[in-house]
Amino acid sequence: MKWTRRLIPALKDNYMLLLSAVNGATIAVDPSEAEPIFVALKEHQLTLKHILCTHHHPDHVGGNLELKERTGCSISGSRRDETRVPGLDSIVSDNYQIEILALPVLPLEIPGHTLGHVAFFFPTLGIVCVGDTLFGMGCGRLFEGTPQQMFTSLAKIARLPPETLVYCGHEYTQALGEFANTLEPENTDLQRRRAEVAQCRAAGQPTVPFTLAEELKTNPFLRPQSPYIRKRLGLEKGTDLEVFTEIRRRKDNI
Ligand SMILES: [Zn+2]
Repeated sequence: MKWTRRLIPALKDNYMLLLSAVNGATIAVDPSEAEPIFVALKEHQLTLKHILCTHHHPDHVGGNLELKERTGCSISGSRRDETRVPGLDSIVSDNYQIEILALPVLPLEIPGHTLGHVAFFFPTLGIVCVGDTLFGMGCGRLFEGTPQQMFTSLAKIARLPPETLVYCGHEYTQALGEFANTLEPENTDLQRRRAEVAQCRAAGQPTVPFTLAEELKTNPFLRPQSPYIRKRLGLEKGTDLEVFTEIRRRKDNI
């Protein structure tokens, strides 16, 4: 079955995603706020049936209760966020595939940004919603988890097929590209992508989604093995986790 994807900007720099079947039945991922979703539902004659939440932060669940009240939709989130995601009806578990409106969804538990953070991989659509764990050329802050947890979670996402399209929760790509450049200015893929991103933003276009393959070539948090990054950090002999931890520490301190 064909599904239509609609990326909807919200709040300051958040993105929400609507996935709609041919009959208009729609799944919303991370509804930061209700109003832009109501506008899209009306404009495209869609019916909201279900909400998927990657994690409990207000800028990802802010629209939950109003949307549920006015549409009667149901809401799924992490088993670890049972008391934190407003209006939660059903919980999802790591690697336990479910179907929503007959669409296969594989939840992946990816703690780090928060302990209950999950990604939603849609194998038949070739897309993954990663919330605030992976960003274009960056990764989320560690509000609840450890560097080891985030490192493992990013590795889990990185193992998905490289052509997978990544939908993240924020438009941070351009600023993160600048940070990536401080670590690996020798990386020609990074230079090319920064130029493309600058062009895209100047035209008012979103940089989301992007492919996992592109991330693997340009995102320093997925590249702790890069000899250039290691040299710059003075960690030539460090473990990948040590390199990752140092990159995260530097990003937190700018
Ligand atoms: Zn968050």
